[in-house]
Amino acid sequence: MALRECVKCFQPYGFRATWHHVIVSANVPRLLEDDLDSLVRAVDELEQARAVWRSKSEEHAALRRREKASGRRVPRRADPWHAWAGLVAYCPDFEKHPTERLDVVLRRVISAFESGVDLTAQCRACARALTEDAPCPDCGVDPVGPTAVRRVGTVHRWREVWLRSGS
Ligand SMILES: [Zn+2]
Repeated sequence: MALRECVKCFQPYGFRATWHHVIVSANVPRLLEDDLDSLVRAVDELEQARAVWRSKSEEHAALRRREKASGRRVPRRADPWHAWAGLVAYCPDFEKHPTERLDVVLRRVISAFESGVDLTAQCRACARALTEDAPCPDCGVDPVGPTAVRRVGTVHRWREVWLRSGS
């Protein structure tokens, strides 16, 4: 339950995909008692990624203060990474998300936003060229973000993962 609260507060892939990522990455067993340290690994990974997020957010806030002070009221085009409450690499299919550590992916995603490249033509997480309006076929990140409506058909699988009853 404590881990759930952590993921609710910080979910760069969306809640389900972020949950799935940390469970798999930290190798959390079905019965937590079998490896209590897995919970620490999961929280550590989330915390490291959140530290990247906070650091970049503070940089962003300082930059915006300077810009506003110099008369620039409208944010630059490269700012939207900051507007989605942390959902910067939303993955509609919770089982298909980047597999590297969250902090590594987060740094790359924010850099992609800041670089100003067209993020509908290049995946923000893995830099693969995107040719259609769909999640990245390699890493699952959706170029449209959390506002996209996708049919992924994973409701049954999610229930298994959430209840820790599936494989
Ligand atoms: Zn990708």
